[in-house]
Amino acid sequence: MALGLPGFVVVAAGEYGGELELLVETTESVTGCPRCGVVATLHDRQPRWVRDLPASGRPVVLVWFKRIWRCAEARCAQRTWSERSAAIRPRAVLTERPGWRPAGGSARTRPTSPRWPPTSASAGAP
Ligand SMILES: [Zn+2]
Repeated sequence: MALGLPGFVVVAAGEYGGELELLVETTESVTGCPRCGVVATLHDRQPRWVRDLPASGRPVVLVWFKRIWRCAEARCAQRTWSERSAAIRPRAVLTERPGWRPAGGSARTRPTSPRWPPTSASAGAP
């Protein structure tokens, strides 16, 4: 499955509650310490949830398993850091896609919501 986000690959995909959930990770499997340049070791992974472009009319949620790196040099002050991506900014809830502005009028792609409150046939009737 093509994701279209540079530097990311889809690891797994599933559907939950009508939403398409894609597990993604970066293709960068080796990195160096930003402070001392020693090759880092994988310390941990943390999931980050971000909303992406709808696919085939369904909402898409990306679960980015962000790598937490650790400097292999014991005396280095850097210790651990998490990887970054230009496509998913820190603390962002949306992916960075040119021309995609879900806040400004994408509501018309949503199905019309059912009448609310629903007319209840049994409420109050013994
Ligand atoms: Zn270091």
